[in-house]
Amino acid sequence: MTSVLRLGHRPDRDKRMSTHVCLTARALGAEAVYFPVVDSVLEKSVKGVTERFGGNFGIRERRDWQELVREWDGDVIHLTMYGDDIDGFFASQNVRNPLIIVGSEKVPRGVYELADFNISVGNQPHSEVAALAIFLDRFNRGRAPKFSGGKMAVLPTGNGKRVVNYQRIPGADECYRLILERGMEQDVIVHTMAVLQRTLELHEVHGGDIRLLTAGALLHDIGRTVTQGAEHPLEGGKIVREMGWDNQLANIVERHMGGGMTREEAESQGLPSKDYLPETLEEKLVCHGDNTAGGDERFEDLLLRTERAGFHDSAQRMRALKDELG
Ligand code: SAM
Repeated sequence: MTSVLRLGHRPDRDKRMSTHVCLTARALGAEAVYFPVVDSVLEKSVKGVTERFGGNFGIRERRDWQELVREWDGDVIHLTMYGDDIDGFFASQNVRNPLIIVGSEKVPRGVYELADFNISVGNQPHSEVAALAIFLDRFNRGRAPKFSGGKMAVLPTGNGKRVVNYQRIPGADECYRLILERGMEQDVIVHTMAVLQRTLELHEVHGGDIRLLTAGALLHDIGRTVTQGAEHPLEGGKIVREMGWDNQLANIVERHMGGGMTREEAESQGLPSKDYLPETLEEKLVCHGDNTAGGDERFEDLLLRTERAGFHDSAQRMRALKDELG
């Protein structure tokens, strides 16, 4: 278990710095930060972050921190500007179960002897937060840890903020219940299961939010319980919104058809005038999962039918999605 020992915390001066030690430790995969004495204000704010964003992290008190270090079942690594170079360390050591010690203004002299390794992240003075972040990132080989169990998650996007509130994303069981309650036809249920499987395969390769993807795949055709026509994605989006579920889920459902629909195409179908083009990763994965759930032959057949119906641009977008997502 990766842990951190924070020494020298002064409640009057170091609240912010020590909070950042904890947040950095948590974000980069540590499960605990030990303090000789826990600062309850700091503990409360870090606990709030874990409750909201998930993961398995806690602050622990260990008055006899020397004993913790002596008894630690793993490598004890003290980060200090005076230590051995980090590059050489990772090139020659296989780190096991690390307890990483970071100080504040000064650490007690004994730490240098108690630690298995004294390691420097460059030999210039900087900060415990920076040193810890770089060390953990090297230890993780640059891969960001995953978090589960939170109330919300921040999803990567190049433009603006995307936050998903998990309290408004139904679990798979709730989705099944809705499918059954609304009397979805057997063949649509079979297709839905195939789309779920295909979407999860795409998730393995491309990532995306698993809860949003699962609910999106399961509900993408919920509008078919109202109509089999071109307006079924719109009806589905309406149902999702009526359930009080997240708008991002409603958008997945609304934008899943073919390669999505432009405003002009929507108007030509008599649908409300707006774009129904998949934009987010999750929207694209469910859309493509739907197009390719029946394998290559069905995809080609779908393309042909789209072309024949006169939706040349839509067919092109389906192909473009295939080129993008494989
Ligand atoms: N003289 C201190 C030292 O031993 O690195 C610098 C004190 S600094 C304000 C607080 C903490 O930041 C240190 O206890 C150490 O854990 C960390 N730190 C600062 N510079 C570092 C560096 N170049 N390499 C590794 N850790 C560093």
